[in-house]
Amino acid sequence: MMNEETRIEVHPLTETPTQAWEEISKTTRVIKINYKSPRTENLDPKKVRVVCMSDTHSLNHYFKFEIPDGDIFIHAGDFTAGGKLDEVLAFNDWIGRLPHKYKLVIAGNHELYFDPSFREIMSPNTNGRTKHNSGLINKIPFLGQSGDASSTAAAPKMREYLTNCIYLEDSGVELYGIKFWGSPWQPEFGPWAFGVKRGQELLNKWNLIPTDTDILITHSPPLGFNDKTAKGDHAGCAELLSTIQKRVKPKYSIFGHVHDAYGVMADGRTVFINATTCDINYLPNNPPVVFDIEIKKNMDDEELKEEVVDVKVEERRSWCSIM
Ligand code: MN
Ligand code: MN
Repeated sequence: MMNEETRIEVHPLTETPTQAWEEISKTTRVIKINYKSPRTENLDPKKVRVVCMSDTHSLNHYFKFEIPDGDIFIHAGDFTAGGKLDEVLAFNDWIGRLPHKYKLVIAGNHELYFDPSFREIMSPNTNGRTKHNSGLINKIPFLGQSGDASSTAAAPKMREYLTNCIYLEDSGVELYGIKFWGSPWQPEFGPWAFGVKRGQELLNKWNLIPTDTDILITHSPPLGFNDKTAKGDHAGCAELLSTIQKRVKPKYSIFGHVHDAYGVMADGRTVFINATTCDINYLPNNPPVVFDIEIKKNMDDEELKEEVVDVKVEERRSWCSIM
């Protein structure tokens, strides 16, 4: 529930995030964390292990690292190159074979068919969509470049093909008493999925995040934390940062999207994780980011052994049809 004191305002420089960050960074703590994966053995029984990935872009076969086991696996979006049905089925099959008890997935801008309002799908004209000049991703045909009636027909139900994970889209789930929320939105930058204008329009999406969220999963980063592109610009959202720092104050903010900015930072209250697996050249080089978090719910040892946990996905928005 939001109250008056925690109403988030649009930052006056929101349209120019690098300049906005110059202002905001004067008054926020910025801690760079030299991330080290926790030891795989001797996990504290009162903690659960969370394994984070993002931006795998259907390149799962090219991973050169192991995926550590854990209780909760998180994928922060861009699990395909173009959101096509065959890619979604392959991802679902892959994630189904991971050993983690719970798997949480959100969509990113590449999951075109997951966005019911995406209107470029029917158009062969993909001008304006970011071109990928190098990397393995060019081997994967993009949606929209040729007619694909089967995928198009499946579009409104694409999320239903993700049967081996919990798909979050402006929705949340509680596991071990820890509250997760997932959101696919990002500042608009071309004809991709889930892009909305910086400022109030994006803030409206962030205003859906419940204030008691412990682990926030977004596809795009908040401003200033693991959002810096190779050119030196900040690509994150000022209103997402304000929402995190002033209203929601989650323990973890997990995202991807900016392939140039893999890593972990903190502001003294929230740990920010850019878990992008693909680097700037779309090579899936970055290993998963792993952390352990204390179970919040008061569970006795028997309950934990039996893995009695509360799984509750909040009501999904109804689908509007494409066209
Ligand atoms: Mn990506
Ligand atoms: Mn992305």
